[in-house]
Order: sequence, then structure tokens, then C-alpha cells
Amino acid sequence: MTANLYALFASHFPADKTACCIETHDGQYYTWGDVERASARIANLFSSLGLPPGARIAVQVEKSPEALILYLATLRAGFVYLPLNTAYRSAEIEYFIGDAEPAVFICSPKNFGWVAQIAFKAGTQHLFTLDEISSGNQGRNSGSLLARAMHFPDHFETVENQADDLAVILYTSGTTGRSKGAMLSHGNIASNAKVLRQYWHWQAGDVLLHALPLFHIHGLLVAANGALLNGSKMIFLPKFDAAEVCRQLPRSTIFMGVPTYYVRLLADQEFNAHACRNIRLFVSGSAPLLADTFAEFVARSGHTILERYGMSETAMLTSNPYDRERRGGTVGHPLPGVSLRLAGNDGSSVSGAGEIGDIQVKGPNVFQGYWRMPEKTAEEFTADGYFKTGDVGKFDSEGYLAIVGRSKDLIISGGYNVYPKEIESVLDDIDGVLESAVIGIPHADFGEAVTAVIVKRPDAKLTTADVIALMKTSIANFKVPKQVFFADELPRNTMGKVQKNLLREHYTRQAA
Ligand code: ATP
Ligand code: MG
Repeated sequence: MTANLYALFASHFPADKTACCIETHDGQYYTWGDVERASARIANLFSSLGLPPGARIAVQVEKSPEALILYLATLRAGFVYLPLNTAYRSAEIEYFIGDAEPAVFICSPKNFGWVAQIAFKAGTQHLFTLDEISSGNQGRNSGSLLARAMHFPDHFETVENQADDLAVILYTSGTTGRSKGAMLSHGNIASNAKVLRQYWHWQAGDVLLHALPLFHIHGLLVAANGALLNGSKMIFLPKFDAAEVCRQLPRSTIFMGVPTYYVRLLADQEFNAHACRNIRLFVSGSAPLLADTFAEFVARSGHTILERYGMSETAMLTSNPYDRERRGGTVGHPLPGVSLRLAGNDGSSVSGAGEIGDIQVKGPNVFQGYWRMPEKTAEEFTADGYFKTGDVGKFDSEGYLAIVGRSKDLIISGGYNVYPKEIESVLDDIDGVLESAVIGIPHADFGEAVTAVIVKRPDAKLTTADVIALMKTSIANFKVPKQVFFADELPRNTMGKVQKNLLREHYTRQAA
């Protein structure tokens, strides 16, 4: 039997092909039949290009139903889908094209000029815009993909794949350094989608309100795959917009977001329990959900956000339970089939409640390695086959995992380990603190000095001396920030993740 991921989805599409698969906020409407036919036409087009097996099809387009159909068409044709963040500009695209050497690149019409220069210099064989280009240099354009696809048949025999054939290369978010290409197979993605379908009780009648981007694991492999595997309708928003989400929530049963979305929903007056009356499940992930947001959300909406944890390399690893207690500040339990352990400094396993260790995982969801980085891949696996996630965590007495932070962000000050998350939680409880980030910056005596960057609430009258004095009363001296800086905001990438490497660079320069 084929392990092709599209074939798996298609086996769950509703029998009624006239039912709605994707609806956009502005009234476009794709039935399941439309999606099958459109993906068949594009798969036929891809197959006609004579690409070698394993060819990468790189896509940097604005979110739309057609963007999702491109993903499905690539899977059907047996090639490797490579989505790219729409925020990337020439320096980044040059890196990704050089690194991944895609045979096909599909861009937005508005980016055609600069993408073409890079793609042709790198020898990319086929460059398409997704839809018609309105003006400008069309000389080297392979054309509009959608217009070309119209000339191909709307039936396609989905290619047969093995479970370990590559399906998607997902570049990591680049929070800790340069993005790496995580190679995910048909089997990796299918195993995770099946587990989540059961764990989150996807059911008949579900409607997913989809506000996440499609180029990242959260929006593509968790949200969209969930709906595709359950034959459920999706309402697509081009981007997160609190007012639009409030308008669409009553028509939806599932919503997934990064923590920033929940913060913004709470800041919107229209958001209340009535707007959420048909919602069955709110999911959060990609970055830590603050305890305050978790609690305020219950109070305002009556819903307890379910927080889960995963990454590009492994898809989802843990989740809070669906029908038992969802514990704030934790990411729940390892998903079925995932073995997750914590390793101490000497590599031995850490097992006691509250003991901190490096999170290591094994399971059918764990990726095939980093694209063209065999040494890095070898370094990140233990001798017994566990992937080192780079995150640090601890279990509570009931087996709920809390993410303490990233091992790269761990601060070693005067020989003591300092976990930024612990200090941030104490800082966030101070009156007048909106949010905080704690980093280590080089220090002659201590090795690294614990340094806090704080965003104050409007009108808060808080001084660095106040913060340090308050901290001294609540935590051990070696953890108290040696320096406190106030900032207007914390630098975040598009997934809402705080970029601590930027903070470290900035404040190291400032301290020098
Ligand atoms: P890079 O690997 O390039 O530095 P990245 O790790 O941010 O970037 P992703 O794969 O998009 O790239 O993100 C995975 C990471 O996001 C995890 O390793 C973890 O640190 C963080 N993360 C995901 N979900 C959660 C969560 N619920 N709570 C805390 N952190 C989370
Ligand atoms: Mg990472």
C-alpha cells in the first residue's frame, strides 16, 4: 500500500465532494472536488517538467487556498514541498535557494523581479508566479502556475511512495541561529497527524478557523493536516486579525494559534464567551504561553487553552490532555508513540519530579535529518537513536512536562546554572512588568552575567533599582539580574518567538 500522505488524506475526504473544504474570509469557496481537481492539474504540470525523484518545489507565496493546493499537488506528484516564510527577502532567499537547490520555485507576482535574479543566478530550472503577473519583466517567467495548470487534465493518479520517502523540507524558524532544513518523510508526517486526530478528538462537523501562516509546521502540519485528515472544512484568514477572528469564531469549532494571538484576542473588546459558543478546542504552541494569558483566557471565554509542544524536526511531541486537566505552564504529556526522556549534564537519565534535563525524543515522527548537514545530524542524535531537541524541561509529579527554555539560552553564572524561564516568571509577577526576557551576557568575573530586558506596562514607574531590590527578596542572589534594561518591545520572529540571540548581541555591545 502506498504511504503517500495525500493518498492518506484523500481516503478521509468526505464522500460528498460538493461539501466545502476551504472557505476564505472574503467568500471564496473550494469544495473537496475542486481541491482534488486543482491539485490534479498542478500535479500533472509538475510531472510534465521531467523532474528527478526527490526534486524540491520551493514555494514563497501569500497564504491562500491555492497555496495549500500547491502543497497537496506536490505530495501527489511525489516531489518534496519546501515552504518559505513570506517575510524572507533577497539575502534569505539566496541562502535557501543555494542550500536547497529547488528545481522549481513559485513566488508571488509582486516578488518576481528580485526572486528571478536570484533564481536564475542559482540555476533554478523553473520559476513560476502563482497567479498572473500584472506588469514588469515577464521575459524569463515560466508563467503563471495556475494559468498553465488549466491546460492539464483534472485527474491524476497519485504517485506511490514509501513511508521514508521525503515529503517536506521545513526550514526551522531561525530563533537560535541560521535556519536548518528539517527533512520530514511521508511516514513522519502521517504518524503525527493520525495521533493528533485521535488525541484532540477531531470529529464530524468540525470547522477549523485557520489564521496561522502556511509556511510553518504549526499552520501546515498541525492545523491544515488535522482538517485534511478529518475531512473537515477550514475557514482561511490571510493572517491573524483579532476582529476578523472574533467574527469567524461562532462558525468554527477549532482554533489554533501562537501565544501572541491569544494575547491579542484578549486585548479585543469583542472577544467573549458568546463569540466562542461553538468552539470545542483552542490550541496554543510554537512559543510558551504565559500563565497570565492562560488564566485570563479561562476567565473571559470559559475555555481552557490546550498547550502543546513540538518543532520542525519532530512535529508534535507532547500535548495537554483533551479530556483531563489542562495544566497552565506545562505542555502536557508525551503523545502516544513518542518516547521522551530528560538527560542530565553527564548524559544519564533524569527521572525525579522537578529535576531539570535536556529533552530527548524518539518516535515515528522524528525527522530523517538536516538537509545536507550530515555532521550536524549525527551530533544531534544520541548513540541509542534519540534526537536532542535543544530544549530543557522538567516533569511534575503527575507527568506534565514544563519547558524550562532552550539549552542555548541557559546561563552559567559564577559556576551556577541559571534557567531564564524561572527568572522571567518572577519578573513577570512584578507590578508594572508587561513581559521580560532574561539572557546571559559575557562577564569577566562570572563568565556570564544574568541580564534582564523588561517591557513595562504603560505608565508603570519602575526603575532598575526597584526591580533588583524586589528580585533580591524573592530569589537566590546568584539568580538576581546583575543588570536590568527597559525596552519598548522584545524582538520576535514571525512565529512570535523572542529572539534571544539578537538581545544577547545588542546588550553585549551595549555593555562593552
Ligand atoms: P531554530 O531551530 O532555527 O533556532 P526554532 O527552534 O524556533 O528555530 P521551530 O522548529 O519553528 O524553530 O520551533 C521549535 C521550538 O519552538 C521548540 O524547540 C521550542 O523551543 C519552541 N516551542 C514550541 N512549542 C512550545 C511551547 N508550547 N512552549 C515553549 N516552547 C515551545
Ligand atoms: Mg529549533
